Amino acid sequence: MIPYSTQSISEADIAEVVRVLRSSHLTQGQEVALFEQSLAEYVGVKHAIAFNSATSALHAAYLAAGLGEGDEIITTPISFVATCNMAVAVGAKPVFCDIRLDGNIDETLIEALITPKTKAIVPVDFAGNPVNMEAIKAIAQRHHLLVIDDASHALGATCKGVKVGASADMSIFSFHAIKPITTGEGGAVVTDRDDYAAALRLIRSHGVVKKQFWNTDMPTLGYNYRLTEFAAALGRSQLARLDTFIARRNEIAAYYDARFSGHKLFDTIKIPESCTSSRHLYPLLLRPELHCPKEDIFAALQERGLGVQVHYKPIYKHSFYVKKFGEQRYHVSEDFYKSELSIPCHQGMSDEDAAYVADTVLEVMEAYKMRGCSL
Ligand SMILES: *Cc1c(COP(=O)(O)O)cnc(C)c1O
Repeated sequence: MIPYSTQSISEADIAEVVRVLRSSHLTQGQEVALFEQSLAEYVGVKHAIAFNSATSALHAAYLAAGLGEGDEIITTPISFVATCNMAVAVGAKPVFCDIRLDGNIDETLIEALITPKTKAIVPVDFAGNPVNMEAIKAIAQRHHLLVIDDASHALGATCKGVKVGASADMSIFSFHAIKPITTGEGGAVVTDRDDYAAALRLIRSHGVVKKQFWNTDMPTLGYNYRLTEFAAALGRSQLARLDTFIARRNEIAAYYDARFSGHKLFDTIKIPESCTSSRHLYPLLLRPELHCPKEDIFAALQERGLGVQVHYKPIYKHSFYVKKFGEQRYHVSEDFYKSELSIPCHQGMSDEDAAYVADTVLEVMEAYKMRGCSL
């Protein structure tokens, strides 16, 4: 099976982890500090704060932003559930904003959703394709809102030469195994704001500060959201290879773009001229005549060794969200869910793999175009 995304671990990565495992110190220390420094430099921000997942990083970012009971965030339904779950965890309500045809939040619809309770706009750089951050920031500034970017897919992506993560008030990255780089499990918040950085560090480590000798104080509620030293060493080693990962994923994506250009049964997503994508995902968007046989297409592709996946079921459709916030429907999100299919695109693929994926996709789509629904 060629997975839609997977990690790439080198001997140098392994040597780094082993080096730290042989050292005297396994919990957050110098290695985490070095990883954070490298990450902040790479993105072009003042602070990077490492976490043991993007989920804990999101939780801490919402807390650092002061989000709580009765507050609202405006966010996209087309994301992994964690983006919203952590807002709900702090007592805030996710207000969904429909998306554009490329899977990113439709910034032209945001302003109409702002209420006196709105505290933050939370976009997601879907598939590693940057959102229109300039427009989103302009709206946020007009209404005195924060922008917290869930950039879990988009480490290394750029717009006008600026890295994703360098423009929002806080941005979150994931280092889950299949994300642009991995620490096994892990995440980070990046920010230019000193006050957020301090709050994030406190929340990450029990809310406890050292005073003198054995005396500590806990001025705020905190958690244990720390990354291990060996995970951080892996992260730093991976970060040094990130640009080669992205370059390879872009080669494969460019090959697919050429093979699939002008196809009648499905579309691909075009990256704006001024931006680059980390290509975390390569989504196909099936035309309506293929929506009905999508389950069969999915099964046929899996059967032929393509580890395809659908990103994502709109968050508001999950039963927890239906129970808590009622039935909701957003047209473009609904269509996107019906049409989206992510095909394999990762740095571990050979040219032959990419050719096999493209050939197989083209064959299977043709085979199913007249089939209609199996139900
Ligand atoms: C993967 C992902 C997360 C969660 O990341 P973890 O590191 O697994 O906690 C959050 N948001 C988005 C958009 C993701 O893709």
